[in-house]
Amino acid sequence: MSNIRILYSQEEIQKRVKELGEEITRAYTGKVPHLVCILRGAVIFLSDLIRYINLPLTIDFMAVSSYGRGTKSSGVVKIIKDLDESIENRDVLIVEDIIDTGLTLEHLTKIFKARNPRDLKVCVLLDKEARRVVNINVDFVGFKVPDEFIIGYGLDYNGLYRNLPFLGILDNLEFGGESFEKTV
Ligand code: 5GP
Repeated sequence: MSNIRILYSQEEIQKRVKELGEEITRAYTGKVPHLVCILRGAVIFLSDLIRYINLPLTIDFMAVSSYGRGTKSSGVVKIIKDLDESIENRDVLIVEDIIDTGLTLEHLTKIFKARNPRDLKVCVLLDKEARRVVNINVDFVGFKVPDEFIIGYGLDYNGLYRNLPFLGILDNLEFGGESFEKTV
């Protein structure tokens, strides 16, 4: 049986996301940041975050999938839904739910840089630093988290739990086999 332990409450998340919004506001003063939400895990985070950014801004979405846990975790990202707008000459901020090995973001930042943004920064809600296998610069971090499987506030396990208003640790995971394709 799976068991959920609360890691951050709804109130703690809102407090931190508000602080992040204020940090981003200061960093982009005089600019119009273009926030790119990586679907689906970051959608709740993005929708709260933008309401704490006191600047004109635009948003776009990209959906990707990657192979994880139990596989080679090559970091090869498959674009399932590409951006609707060009990012050329824009101040792009990638908004991601969690950085784990860093392979997904490493691959994504390569794809983005090739499209010639004026500036490219990365904002993650959660940073599972202990698991990093590549050196990648993250500009804005919500919370540093332990090496546990986290669900809630947009993050899923097999598609479920995204609607939990808090962040929790899911114990006793049954991954059911050698490999699976996860939804990012
Ligand atoms: P990375 O390429 O950095 O290893 O993996 C990043 C992706 O793996 C995240 O966008 C997320 O989809 C997934 N992931 C990594 N750790 C967790 C976790 O603890 N919980 C959930 N729900 N997804 C995770």
